[in-house]
Amino acid sequence: MHATNLSARLAPAEYPVILFYKYITIADAETFAADQRELCAGLGLKGRILIATEGINGTLAGPAEAVDRYVATLRADARFADVEIKVSAGDAGTFPKLVIKVRPEIVTLNAGAITPDKDNQLSPSEWKRMMEENPDAVPLDIRNRFESEAGKFENAVVCDIEHFRELPQYVDRLQGLKDKTVLMYCTGGIRCEKASALFRSKGFTKVFQLHGGIAAYQEEFGNEHWQGECFVFDQRMTVRVEEGLVPIGRCMHTGRTTSRFVNCLHDPCHKLFLLSAEAEAENREYRLCPECLAAGITFATAEY
Ligand SMILES: [Zn+2]
Repeated sequence: MHATNLSARLAPAEYPVILFYKYITIADAETFAADQRELCAGLGLKGRILIATEGINGTLAGPAEAVDRYVATLRADARFADVEIKVSAGDAGTFPKLVIKVRPEIVTLNAGAITPDKDNQLSPSEWKRMMEENPDAVPLDIRNRFESEAGKFENAVVCDIEHFRELPQYVDRLQGLKDKTVLMYCTGGIRCEKASALFRSKGFTKVFQLHGGIAAYQEEFGNEHWQGECFVFDQRMTVRVEEGLVPIGRCMHTGRTTSRFVNCLHDPCHKLFLLSAEAEAENREYRLCPECLAAGITFATAEY
C-alpha cells in the first residue's frame, strides 16, 4: 500500500491513528530507535513504539499528512516494505506524548529465544474453512482470561491467564490438544506469532494461526462463529465491543452501563477495564484504571 492509497483510506479522518507490528531482526535496536524518535518527533507524531531486536510494535497518531509521511518512510526501508498498517480515526488528544522504547521483546512472553512463526498463518477464510470442515480442529484462544470471558469463537479452548507472559507455564495444562489441529487466535496476530512458536517447541505439531487475528476475521465475516461480545482493536491499543450489542457491564469510573473495554494507559499495568465513552470524554484521567489512579499515576505521568 502506497502513502497515497493510505490517504485515500484515511478520508475523512483528519487525525488518523495507525497500528502496526512486524517481527524482523533489527540488529541495532538503539540506533533504529533513535532514528525513529527523530523521524516521529520531526513529523509531530505522538504515540508509542516498542523496538526490540525481534521487531517493531507501534501505534502513532497525528495529522494525516504526517502519518502518511511516516508510513512512506517506514516502507522505504526494505525490512518494512510489507508492514501491515491498521488505520482508525483519532484526535489530537489520543496520545499525550511520543514514547519510543527499546525493550527485550515487542510483546512480552518471556519464554527465552523464540523465532516467531509465519509459515502457519491462515487467512481468515482459510481459517474459517478449517474450523468448519476439519472435525479434529480446536480453536484455541490465547488471549488473557478477561478477554475470552467477554467473547470467543464457538467451541474455543480458552487460557486461564492474566498476562501473556503466563502462557509458557500454562501450555502444560493444554496437553490434551497436542495431537489436535490447533487453530490459535488472538486480537491482531502479534501474540500468535510467538505463541505458535512456543507451542510447536513444546511438541504441538498441527498449529495454525489466524493471520491478522480476530480484527481481520471480523472485517470479513463479522460475528460468524463468534459467541458473546466481540472485541476489536480501536485506535488506542485498546479493544472495544462491536456496536449494537446489548451492553452488560458497568463503567468502572462512573458506573454507567457500558461494554467498552480499554487497557489501562499505564503500560506496566495495562489492565483491561470497563470505561464508558462518556466518562472518557469527561475526564481523560479515566484512561487509567482505578488502581493506578489511586496509586497517584496520572494521564501525564503514565508510562506507555
Ligand atoms: Zn492501571
